[in-house]
Amino acid sequence: MLYGALEAGGTKMVLGCFDENGTLLDRTVMPTEAPDITFPKMAAFFAEKKIDALGIGSFGPLCLNPKDPRYGAVGASPKLSWRGFNIVKAFSEALHVPVALDTDVNAAALAEAKLGAAKGLASCVYVTIGTGVGGGVVVDGKPIHGLMHPELGHMLLTPDPRDPKPEGFCPYHKSCLEGLAAGPSMEKRWGLSAKELPDDHVAWEIEANYLAQMCYNVILTLSPEKIILGGGVLQRKHIFPLIRRRTLELLNGYIEELDGSDLSDYIVEPGLDTASGLTGSYLLALQAGA
Ligand code: ADP
Ligand code: ZN
Repeated sequence: MLYGALEAGGTKMVLGCFDENGTLLDRTVMPTEAPDITFPKMAAFFAEKKIDALGIGSFGPLCLNPKDPRYGAVGASPKLSWRGFNIVKAFSEALHVPVALDTDVNAAALAEAKLGAAKGLASCVYVTIGTGVGGGVVVDGKPIHGLMHPELGHMLLTPDPRDPKPEGFCPYHKSCLEGLAAGPSMEKRWGLSAKELPDDHVAWEIEANYLAQMCYNVILTLSPEKIILGGGVLQRKHIFPLIRRRTLELLNGYIEELDGSDLSDYIVEPGLDTASGLTGSYLLALQAGA
């Protein structure tokens, strides 16, 4: 059996072909242009590989309710040309194989739970802080869906009193997590990118406060066994101890299970580095083909 995996991102598409042991046999990357340009190229790649099932971890929002006639379609995405495009329908009709779809971050969370930093645990939350902020949630070994899927990048936060731009930059909600803490928000606030800001800049204390508020909210609402933080901004590893310390301050001793911990085993880096998206898509394909 051969499994196709697609990590569908806002800027690039990563396509992989895996065998049943999870070995990556082939991989290609292409820019995300309009669906009428990019979709035929992707379908041709997978058709040529003669895959038996396809798993997709995609940017969203997505309709993931199988009872909804829009199941498989992209929702109100800032990528306008993809709005309404039904990824599941398009690939099913082109390839005639089972197709499984989830959000890119749910796929990454699944990969981290099965093979990465949360291996052996039944639950985890994976959050990426990059161009946007997105979060995936795995409970009992499965990515969770409900009304749609978690969109924890848009949770509301309390602005930091030291923040010179506390109004935030999200076009929908202004001072939500993404509006305050995504890479582009940092750059707009300081005129320097997250790559350029020095380690001792107050920007990192403020960023850590925002990410700690998110961790606090996630711990109290979802109670995951691990929180995994990735994405471009979190390449700046010095922020991890700041986030852990501020999370403990906010929790103020409320969660006894975390007593005595400095959270270095609880709020962690991804175990699969940048491979979690494609690996998670492969795991979705395995489930679809089973
Ligand atoms: P995307 O979210 O588009 O998949 P990334 O996760 O790389 O891509 O996020 C891009 C954002 O992360 C940009 O705002 C950039 O400033 C920031 N970024 C990328 N690399 C680094 C780095 N090494 N250190 C700090 N910030 C980075
Ligand atoms: Zn928002």
